[in-house]
Amino acid sequence: LTDADARPLPTGAPGVFCYPEAFEQLLAELRTAIAALAADEPFQRLAVPPVIARSTLERAGYVASFPQLVGTVHSYAGTPREWAALAPLVVTGGDWHAHQRIGDLVLLPAACYPVYASLAGRELTSPVRFAVEASCFRQEVTSETGRLRSFRMAELVTAGDEAHCLAWRDRWLDRVGDWLTGCSLKPVVEVADDPFFGATAKLYQAAQRAQQLKYELRVELADGLVQAVASANVHRDHFGEAFGFTSAGAPGQTACTAFGLERIALALLHAHGPHPRRWPAAVRAAVGAPAGADR
Ligand code: ATP
Ligand code: ZN
Repeated sequence: LTDADARPLPTGAPGVFCYPEAFEQLLAELRTAIAALAADEPFQRLAVPPVIARSTLERAGYVASFPQLVGTVHSYAGTPREWAALAPLVVTGGDWHAHQRIGDLVLLPAACYPVYASLAGRELTSPVRFAVEASCFRQEVTSETGRLRSFRMAELVTAGDEAHCLAWRDRWLDRVGDWLTGCSLKPVVEVADDPFFGATAKLYQAAQRAQQLKYELRVELADGLVQAVASANVHRDHFGEAFGFTSAGAPGQTACTAFGLERIALALLHAHGPHPRRWPAAVRAAVGAPAGADR
């Protein structure tokens, strides 16, 4: 492991990779660095599974806005007799899944959604803070470097009133920018929008940009290819309305700061080479490697 190559291995499925131990070591270090950035705020840490109730994602508005990205979970709902007719099709490459039916779970597209759902019915007398990580899935149509379908997202999430959420988001945008700069990456901060689907997409994207709801930190992942490695977002009262939690009697407001762990790692590998143990000591320290790790 000492000097191992950390680069992900393709699996044959676009946007799905296997990760060598040296890559996972780097992700562990990034988690340490993010936890250190967050150390002066009382975050409640939650491990989040890679699936979420379909009803929760529907209620959050995700399905209506991003139907093209949602990975649904289907399973067989027919009889054994019906399966006897379908089973041969598995071998011949036929339509064995004709009787699959959508279930009550879908694949989780972002780590923060379960947090908002967990606040249902609460009156927030002071801001709440959560630190979460999950394996996320999005049915991306392209697969350039860093555009994965299965990826890990770490998020810091808060809920409270509007002033708190705006100030918190702005503080985190600065903090993450400084951290990435300290890792010798060159983050560019940009107002951004989400990939809304269909006829109303342009309208929603324009409104999202006009209200500066989403900022992205964009970094080069390959020669000439820049991707967002982190985002800092406010959602106004969208989730407070959707899930019924309040602050001072009004629908609660929320903000999140999301870290694309694979993308940050890929940006570092691109900038400093495929062997993390050979990186400059200052970079190793900034990414969260323990002192003396490389001796
Ligand atoms: P919101 O709360 O506004 O829905 P979010 O912050 O939870 O957004 P995004 O901004 O869409 O989620 O994604 C967060 C981060 O996850 C991105 O900045 C990126 O680093 C990473 N990410 C998103 N999509 C992919 C992908 N297809 N492959 C790899 N990483 C991704
Ligand atoms: Zn989020």
